[in-house]
Amino acid sequence: MKNSTLVKKYILGEGSLSQLISVIKPKRINKNSFVVFCIDHFFENHNLRENLPVEHNDLILFIDTTDEPKAEYIDQLVQRVKKFKSNLPCSIVGIGGGSTLDISKIISILLTNPGRAQNYQGWDLVKNKAVFKIGVPTIAGTGAEFTRTAVVTSKIKKLGINSDQSVFDQVILDPNLLKTVPKDQFFFTAMDCFVHNVESLRGSQNDELTIAFAEKSLEMMRDVFFRKMNYEKLMVASVMGGISIANSNVGICHPLSYGLSLVLGLHHGFAICIAFNQLEEYYPEVKEFRDFLKKSEIELPKIINEKITQDQIEKMADATLKNEKPLENAFGKKWMDIFTKEKVISLIKKM
Ligand code: NAD
Ligand code: ZN
Repeated sequence: MKNSTLVKKYILGEGSLSQLISVIKPKRINKNSFVVFCIDHFFENHNLRENLPVEHNDLILFIDTTDEPKAEYIDQLVQRVKKFKSNLPCSIVGIGGGSTLDISKIISILLTNPGRAQNYQGWDLVKNKAVFKIGVPTIAGTGAEFTRTAVVTSKIKKLGINSDQSVFDQVILDPNLLKTVPKDQFFFTAMDCFVHNVESLRGSQNDELTIAFAEKSLEMMRDVFFRKMNYEKLMVASVMGGISIANSNVGICHPLSYGLSLVLGLHHGFAICIAFNQLEEYYPEVKEFRDFLKKSEIELPKIINEKITQDQIEKMADATLKNEKPLENAFGKKWMDIFTKEKVISLIKKM
């Protein structure tokens, strides 16, 4: 049984971003105090900045999320913070999707722990307390705002920094921030939450709490996509899906998506949709997922075409099969006998 950690404080509601100032103010204890704002680059040309309590000696880092978080990029950002001032910031504020939130978590860790991002990929490797950090999601679905992991890709692996130090000290959930997300991206990230819930419920490593969160989260997603769009509800569904998955485990879809992301560089939510669409023999919810697609007028392209080599497909299959724990969650201890490399390749070829 896991000893679970949760975010201690959150503010939820339209316009809650305006309360960021009251959270930061007590942290600014003297004239050297400064805040690092890590903001998704989308907002560089939007007027979000005017609504932020930025002071003259704060540092704003616009985060390039063209690619998902790379360890080297985060190391460079940490150096920029260290060069900016010799003292530690009094707070890090991450404003963006899963990528920006994870990057701000890792910056907060690397400012008080020696070495580079890749040194902490794994479980409970962080020794020192991280800098106080606030997460402000601007897109809903990953659950990164509430989990104890920060996903990062180094040269060798895509693996989270799983640590209590990866948990935000404060989260601000302002549904108004979702309004600018492009339709396709909105859908792909939301479906990450849908799949988290399905994998958590259909696995063997869940418990009454993760089941309760996943079931409620699924119900809210159905409301949002089939009845009435409600950004606040979707944000809460994302949080609940995140708590559920963080305390149970993913299943078959996430390992397949990691292969797609690693070899073809596909973004997480998109890779999840591509993989999940081919898993109807394992998850009856695929039928419902296709209704989500139809309702949102999203067409998934064919990813595996004549340009993809056999070698690339093999690499994707190998990357998939490295995820022992999720596959055991889905199939049981003898997962290797059921989910063979041939089977994985046949699924990938359909994507
Ligand atoms: P993202 O952060 O990668 O952003 C996707 C795109 O949406 C970017 O182009 C970004 O600029 C844009 N965007 C974000 N907010 C916007 C807004 N309000 N308006 C307009 N554009 C906006 O997307 P994501 O799907 O939230 O995050 C994916 C990442 O999250 C992956 O790296 C994945 O591994 C990670 N993840 C982390 C956890 C965790 O628990 N830490 C869980 C699941 C996934
Ligand atoms: Zn996911």
